[in-house]
Amino acid sequence: MTNKYMLNVLKKVSEKNPGEPEFIQAVTEVFETIEPVIEKRPDFVRANILERIVEPDRQVIFRVPWLDDEGNVQVNRGFRVQFNNAIGPYKGGLRLHPSVYIGIIKFLGFEQVFKNSLTTLPMGGAKGGSDFDPKGKSDNEIMRFCQSFITELYRHIGKDIDVPAGDIGVGAREIGYMFGQYKRLTGEWSGILTGKGIPYGGSLARTEATGYGLCYFTNEMLSAHGKSFKGATVIISGSGNVALYACQKAQELGANVVAMSDSGGYVYDPNGIDFAAMRELKEVKRGRIYEYCETHPSASYTEGCSGIWTIPCHIALSCATQNEINGESASALVANGCFAVSEGANMPSTPEAIEIYLKNGLLYGPAKAANAGGVAVSGLEMSQNSQRYSWTFEEVDGKLQAIMKNIFAACQSAAKEYGMEGNYMAGANIAGFIKVAESMLAQGCV
Ligand code: NDP
Repeated sequence: MTNKYMLNVLKKVSEKNPGEPEFIQAVTEVFETIEPVIEKRPDFVRANILERIVEPDRQVIFRVPWLDDEGNVQVNRGFRVQFNNAIGPYKGGLRLHPSVYIGIIKFLGFEQVFKNSLTTLPMGGAKGGSDFDPKGKSDNEIMRFCQSFITELYRHIGKDIDVPAGDIGVGAREIGYMFGQYKRLTGEWSGILTGKGIPYGGSLARTEATGYGLCYFTNEMLSAHGKSFKGATVIISGSGNVALYACQKAQELGANVVAMSDSGGYVYDPNGIDFAAMRELKEVKRGRIYEYCETHPSASYTEGCSGIWTIPCHIALSCATQNEINGESASALVANGCFAVSEGANMPSTPEAIEIYLKNGLLYGPAKAANAGGVAVSGLEMSQNSQRYSWTFEEVDGKLQAIMKNIFAACQSAAKEYGMEGNYMAGANIAGFIKVAESMLAQGCV
C-alpha cells in the first residue's frame, strides 16, 4: 500500500487501538485491497470516509452479574459495538467465549459492515458478546447469564435499531433465553433477535444457513474454475453450527468429508464423517469430538487443532475461529494438493496464510463473502417477522442460494473491474466497501 491518505489513517488506527491486533489486522486487510478504489475516488478522500469507517458509531461495555448454581455471584463483561448503520439497522451476532475482549468484538463488527453490504439486504454492521465461558455451565446458569446480559443490552437494541443474533457459544438455547427476557422487560413481542426458535418467529433454514451458504458460495467459485465438490476430499475445522451444516451440504454435493475438530483436537474418518452421529453428539449431547471415535471404529482422534490442516484434501473449509490457519498450515495444505480454501469462520486465515493461497493459485473464498449466508437468512427472518408471515424451508433455501450466487458474482466482477481477476478477497472488500462508502457520502458528515 503506497497511498499516503490510507497509510495515514492506518497509522492512526494502530495508535488509537493499542492492544487490539485482530482489529488492526481486519482493517489492514480491507485497506490493502481497496487502494485502487481510493485512487479513483477523490470524493471518498475529501469526505474522509476511511477515518470515519474505522471508528465505530458507539461501543457499549457493561457489567454482567449472575448467580451460579452454588449461589456465588459471578461477574462477566458484556460488549456491543454498533459499527456502522449507513445502509440499515445494526446487525451482527453475539459471541460467548473466554477470549472475548473489545478488540475481538471490534474486528468482528468491522467485518460485519462489509459482509452485510454484500448480502444486498439493508443491514448495518455490529457485534457483541461476553467473556463468559458457556462450557461446563448448567442450563440454569446459562439462563441466568443470558437474562442478566439482556437486562443491560435491551436498552441499546430495537427492531429498527440493532438486531443481534448468535455466534460462537450462542445458539438457539441462548437466543431463546435472551428473547424471553427482552420480552419480559419491554412487554413487547418484536423481532429483536434472529436465530429464534421456529415456534416463536424463527426462520426455517436459519440454523443451516451459514454452513449451506458457505457451500453454495464455494460451489460457485469452484464451477467458475471448472471444479466441483463431486468426489473431492474435504476437511472442516470446528464442529459447531457452521461446521456441521457445511458438512451436511458438502456431502449432499458429493464430497467426502474426512475430518472435523473442536477446540480439543480433531477426528479423521477416511470413510467419511457420519453427519447424523456428529450432529447428535455436538448439537444434542453437547459432547466432545473424541467421543465420535467410541462409536466409529474407522475414525481416529488427535489432540490439538492445527494438525487437521496436514490431512491431504482438495478443499478446506475453516469453520472454527479467527487465525486458525497460519503460514505453516497453509503451506501444508498446498503441499498436500489442496486447491480451494473457503472460510465459514470470521478471519480464520492469517495474512501469511492468505499470501500463500494467492501465490500458489488456490481458490480462496474469503469469510466476508463465503459466510454471509447466516446473516442473509437473519435478514430474511427480520422480513418474515415484519410481515407476520413464514416462508417454507424451500423458499428460504432458494433465496439463500440466489443471494450466495449474487455475492459470488459481485466479488468476481469487482475483482475484475479493479484489475485483480480471481482475487475474491479483493472483490469482496471492494464490492462491500463501495456501497457503504456511497451511502455515507450521501448522508453527509454524520
Ligand atoms: P459454535 O460455537 O457453534 O462452534 C464453534 C466451533 O469452533 C466449535 O467446534 C468450537 O470448539 C470451535 N472453536 C471455538 N473457538 C475455538 C478456538 N479458540 N480454537 C479452536 N476451536 C475453537 O460457533 P459457530 O459455528 O456459530 O461459529 C464458528 C465461526 O463461524 C466463528 O468464527 C463465527 O464468527 C463464524 N460465523 C458464524 C455464523 C453463524 O451463523 N453462527 C455466521 C457467520 C460466521 P469447542 O466446542 O471445543 O469450543
